[in-house]
Amino acid sequence: MAINILQYSALKTALDSKQITLVAVSKTKPVADIRALYDLGQRDFGENYVQELIDKQAQLPTDIRWHFIGHLQSNKVKYIAPFVHLIHGVDSASLLKEINKQAIKNNRTLHCLLQMHIAQEETKFGLDEQELGLLLQQSYEQVSIDGLMGMASFSNDTNLVSQEFAQLKRYFDAVKAQHPALTSFHTLSMGMSGDYQLAIAQGSNMVRIGSLLFGQREYQQ
Ligand SMILES: *Cc1c(COP(=O)(O)O)cnc(C)c1O
Repeated sequence: MAINILQYSALKTALDSKQITLVAVSKTKPVADIRALYDLGQRDFGENYVQELIDKQAQLPTDIRWHFIGHLQSNKVKYIAPFVHLIHGVDSASLLKEINKQAIKNNRTLHCLLQMHIAQEETKFGLDEQELGLLLQQSYEQVSIDGLMGMASFSNDTNLVSQEFAQLKRYFDAVKAQHPALTSFHTLSMGMSGDYQLAIAQGSNMVRIGSLLFGQREYQQ
């Protein structure tokens, strides 16, 4: 299925007017689809799998800002460290440590979001409030903590989903208030195709949208 150009243009215009960053989630989609959105001006793209990301990165323009939005294993940080723009799903000190190590090796700062667990489902990754506090006590010279990321429950219950996003916004505001030295802490990545409007209503400033732009995926990842 080809990309939805009208959908893209309308969404991009609406988000730009609110200064919300659109990350186009291109996982499982071919390079040609990414190129088509790129030609319309889109620059932020999100991928979940390291191998898929490095394959695509090598074939596409170098001014694409690649967001890694999946669960990153420490032993794979090295493959994306040379070029990744923002790592969304960081949820452990050991991963941060490895990200810092690879940042130093590549002579750059790596930008990260800490992933919070806000959904009811047990299977999702992410930190609780206490773990977040502990992670923020440490600092790594070449890692920049740019904000928080989270995924709400896969549920039709809009009240539940809104409450989960509101909780994430409270965590975000609390970190800003308690850590004024974190000057780069300004990104709140929440909202996907099915729930981005709810996320924006609760204060999201970065949405990760896949199927709405690229069509349904053959398989869900
Ligand atoms: C796949 C994925 C998305 C995009 O999902 P859609 O429902 O297709 O918009 C957003 N965030 C994460 C972390 C994902 O894995």
